[in-house]
Amino acid sequence: MAIRYELRQRGKGMRKCKICGGSRALIRSYKLYVCRRCFRENAERLGFEKLS
Ligand SMILES: [Zn+2]
Repeated sequence: MAIRYELRQRGKGMRKCKICGGSRALIRSYKLYVCRRCFRENAERLGFEKLS
């Protein structure tokens, strides 16, 4: 049942933060698929300057 749910999620829209798994304020613009919070925390690591 849990597995089934996961597959379903994966099948349709993977709009989840790939770092924390949350789906809040997700940034898809740069094909990052991370939420805003994780983006800020990992911006430098991801090769972005501070964009605040
Ligand atoms: Zn996140």
